[in-house]
Amino acid sequence: MISSDLRDKLIQSACEARQNAYAPYSHYRVGAAVLTEDGRLYTGVNVESASYGLTVCAERNAVYKMVSEGIGRITAVAVCTENAGSPCGACRQVLAEFAGDVPVWLVDDKGNGRETTLYTLLPDHFGPEHLT
Ligand SMILES: [Zn+2]
Repeated sequence: MISSDLRDKLIQSACEARQNAYAPYSHYRVGAAVLTEDGRLYTGVNVESASYGLTVCAERNAVYKMVSEGIGRITAVAVCTENAGSPCGACRQVLAEFAGDVPVWLVDDKGNGRETTLYTLLPDHFGPEHLT
């Protein structure tokens, strides 16, 4: 359970990061923020490519930034889009690599949206337990 102040900060960080999205093709700008066990925040934005297939989502960029800084566990996620859109399947799977059934806030650029959880978004996910 995270405080409402921390939740608001997480959502605000995702929406502020969204300003840096590189989305000249889809024009669908996304900002994401992940909160770690030690209270750090990492943000990411979608970065598109003229080749289209090399586009990387905001959620995965936030996770990769976190991991590259040596941090490993996520306790909450916020995603900010123009219409409170939901993470794609690839991002759900990558988030599940570093998080349990954590809260996920899906908001628009005014911070309005809904709260869900990672396992609601990705039930019965593939995990390390399948690699025995
Ligand atoms: Zn994605």
